[in-house]
Amino acid sequence: MDRASLEAYFVSLGEKPFRATQILQWIHQRGVANFDEMTNISKELRTRLAETTEIRCPEVVLEQASDDGTRKWLLRVDSGNCIEAVFIPEPGRGTLCVSSQVGCALDCSFCSTAQQGFNRNLSVAEIIGQVWVANRALGKTRLDPMGADRIITNVVMMGMGEPLLNFDNVVQAMNLMTEDFAYGLSKRRVTLSTAGVVPALDRLRDVSDVSLAVSLHAPNDALRNELVPINKKYPIQELLASCKRYLEGKPHRRITFEYVMLNGVNDSPQLARELVRLLADVPSKINLIPFNPFPNTRYTRSSDAAIDVFRDILVKAGFTTITRRTRGDDIDAACGQLAGKVLDRSKRKLHRIPISVVAQQQ
Ligand code: SAH
Repeated sequence: MDRASLEAYFVSLGEKPFRATQILQWIHQRGVANFDEMTNISKELRTRLAETTEIRCPEVVLEQASDDGTRKWLLRVDSGNCIEAVFIPEPGRGTLCVSSQVGCALDCSFCSTAQQGFNRNLSVAEIIGQVWVANRALGKTRLDPMGADRIITNVVMMGMGEPLLNFDNVVQAMNLMTEDFAYGLSKRRVTLSTAGVVPALDRLRDVSDVSLAVSLHAPNDALRNELVPINKKYPIQELLASCKRYLEGKPHRRITFEYVMLNGVNDSPQLARELVRLLADVPSKINLIPFNPFPNTRYTRSSDAAIDVFRDILVKAGFTTITRRTRGDDIDAACGQLAGKVLDRSKRKLHRIPISVVAQQQ
């Protein structure tokens, strides 16, 4: 529960609302998952809470570290389902990539999560549980939310799933990420990434002001329909209009547009110029993501030279453009690779079987 729900819960128990902030600090800042340790709460209330509520985090099935320092956790969320969270350290910041669903329904043609199909939404606890687990594993059980020594400085909702299709739970979990009594991250350091679920994006504006990333990947509808099929429902112009509405009343803020670089598909200079025209009046940054391959994909990564030419066209047109460095690909932790090769590790040659089935087999 976020602070508002927890306050309402305590009031319903006939308790003072400030109990909520105490509990949040114990759980999220001190990493405590046991009511007995919460010494500023009366014994009577602790007993009552232990009888009526539960603090449970996702179980870590597998933890891997990449040569480049990236870490990945495979987390079991129930008897049949696992998800992945990834920590990416960089000089001066540490980004945690969090999943919002088990699998994904959107079926983007270049994403390995899509091949699993959709299984279910994650609960608020399962989403924030990823931050909790990573924070503890990274040695920050006593996190000072305002401290300069935090390890997780940024959270991106860029793991498995489409966060806007699990709207309420994702919003509540993001509230905890930015909550001073929990993880205390600034709204600019929490980023929701979406393939473009326009009605949900319009709703997001009313309840949250986190940073927004949009998986664009193509500058025209014909190509985007192929890569990101939800474009058929919400075409580019509708999506961009919604992006502009999201920025209304938020001066100096920009949308990050993600653009996966697929060799010979969407990486020509002509398409870069089309992208320049398309985004001319949207305050934007552009992230080029070199395609990360996975088994049975029909795509290959654009050459470094093609990516550089594409980037230079955008930069010359005045766009802040960065090429995202591939991180953690030796442990299949890179963009679009999450949960794609669980079966490899268990030495079964059964790619593309839903992860729920994998977990059952284990
Ligand atoms: N569903 C949300 C959250 C996923 S974010 C969204 O679409 O934005 C993950 C990012 O990685 C998205 O931009 C996605 O398009 C991109 N991606 C997916 N598969 C990829 C791959 N194989 N290589 C590189 N990037 C990929």
